[in-house]
Amino acid sequence: METVDSADVVVVGAGVSGLAAARLIARGGRRVVVLEARDRVGGRVFTDRSGGHITDRGASWIHGIDDSPVAEAARAFGMPMVEFTVGGYQPDSRPLTYFDARGERLSPDAVRQYADDIRAVNQTLVEIIARARPDATYGEVVERALDTHEWDTERKERVREYNDRRAQEQYGIGMSGLGAHGLDDDTVDGDEVVFPRGYDELATNLAAGLDVRLEHVVSSVERTSAGVTVRTDRGTYAAEQVVVTVPVGVLHAGDVVIEPSLPEAHRRALALLRMNAFEKVVLRFAERFWDAGVYGIRQLGDEGEWWHSWYDLGRLHDEPALLTFAAGPAAVATRTWSDEEIVASTLVQLRRLYGDAVPEPTSAIVTRWQDDPFSRGSYAFMLPGSVGADHDVLAEPVDGVLHLAGEATWGDDPATVPGALLSGHRAAQNVLGREILVSDLWA
Ligand SMILES: Cc1cc2nc3c(=O)[nH]c(=O)nc-3n(C[C@H](O)[C@H](O)[C@H](O)COP(=O)(O)OP(=O)(O)OC[C@H]3O[C@@H](n4cnc5c(N)ncnc54)[C@H](O)[C@@H]3O)c2cc1C
Repeated sequence: METVDSADVVVVGAGVSGLAAARLIARGGRRVVVLEARDRVGGRVFTDRSGGHITDRGASWIHGIDDSPVAEAARAFGMPMVEFTVGGYQPDSRPLTYFDARGERLSPDAVRQYADDIRAVNQTLVEIIARARPDATYGEVVERALDTHEWDTERKERVREYNDRRAQEQYGIGMSGLGAHGLDDDTVDGDEVVFPRGYDELATNLAAGLDVRLEHVVSSVERTSAGVTVRTDRGTYAAEQVVVTVPVGVLHAGDVVIEPSLPEAHRRALALLRMNAFEKVVLRFAERFWDAGVYGIRQLGDEGEWWHSWYDLGRLHDEPALLTFAAGPAAVATRTWSDEEIVASTLVQLRRLYGDAVPEPTSAIVTRWQDDPFSRGSYAFMLPGSVGADHDVLAEPVDGVLHLAGEATWGDDPATVPGALLSGHRAAQNVLGREILVSDLWA
């Protein structure tokens, strides 16, 4: 196919990492073209405004605003934020209504005991993870941590269950499939916040003034003696350097072929990451049937195997709405179900807890990130055998012309919007060959 255009640098993907990289490289005086398969920017930051409601179908939270570049960018771009510190699956950081395995409410004392047990085990876990075999799973280290406590079966089961559900909600995989180091990065510094006007304002602001070509599906990226050749369904682009930010699921699927293939170290790191199964279910109701003032609802025990946590979106907008997740096993099992079947399945559990008075929702949103060809899942988790630094191996420049970026390349805080943004900043520095301030993104 003929070359339709050339640029100093081509960026593949207009998610937060690609837009951050492109913005800084353009600011550095280079001519940048961004090629994006979708008909919109933002990638996995995607706000739905249908039916007069604002729903973030992808990322919602900044998991801790202390020293967060995304919080700084949001302030500079004038994006309102609302505190909602439950996104890290904390057991009791904010008011939550808990139900036990029989569907009875837990007393405040019982909640305190439960949360204390979790903290006690998680303290032991840090040491155990540091000494674990490289290929240990998160489930194995949790088991070892539980062994250090002389508790009865039920008490241990609740903490085991908590850790499994945390792995599901944070990484979209049960703890037996996650590497022992898979939650190392999962700390929350400061309050968590969400965006009542939509997270996509971040992407729109980052994209302002950039040359973004939407609906350009890239199929291959080839390194040649002259630089790089990027093939799309709308012709070929030539550039000196390329930044590739497609999700690892897209690379695994071979949808963007890299030629010659990536170096061995990159291929090894890529093989240690997998896209997860993690979907959102948002239910809107005519009226609230749960307690006012709580941040969420949790149920313990087997009935909560799939639907264990609901978050009150009334914190963002003045409306009775709950968010739950099909996370890990639930997302895999319900992948072929209709939206109606999924919603009905969540309602069975809500009615078990709140009775038959729970009405049908007035509307519902069910996401389908697993079936999205341009993400193939929600974000990457670490397989047994990997450590956080493996992510960063992916970002090592290849032959001085090819740079990978994106959430899965940022070891300190992968699977997040800040990780994506910082990976774009690093790619821009590697392209320009000098240090630049991340604050140049919003200055
Ligand atoms: C349901 C869900 C909930 C989440 N919750 C949170 C949260 O609360 N907080 C948080 O920090 N993070 C969250 N995340 C993760 C966060 O959204 C991502 O880590 C981040 O947005 C990734 O940005 P990125 O630039 O790396 O990738 P992307 O946003 O995926 O950008 C890559 C771009 O490449 C494009 N692309 C793919 N294939 C091609 C191709 N062949 N040709 C051209 N373009 C292509 C894609 O369309 C996309 O626009 C969530 C994600 C999901 C899906």
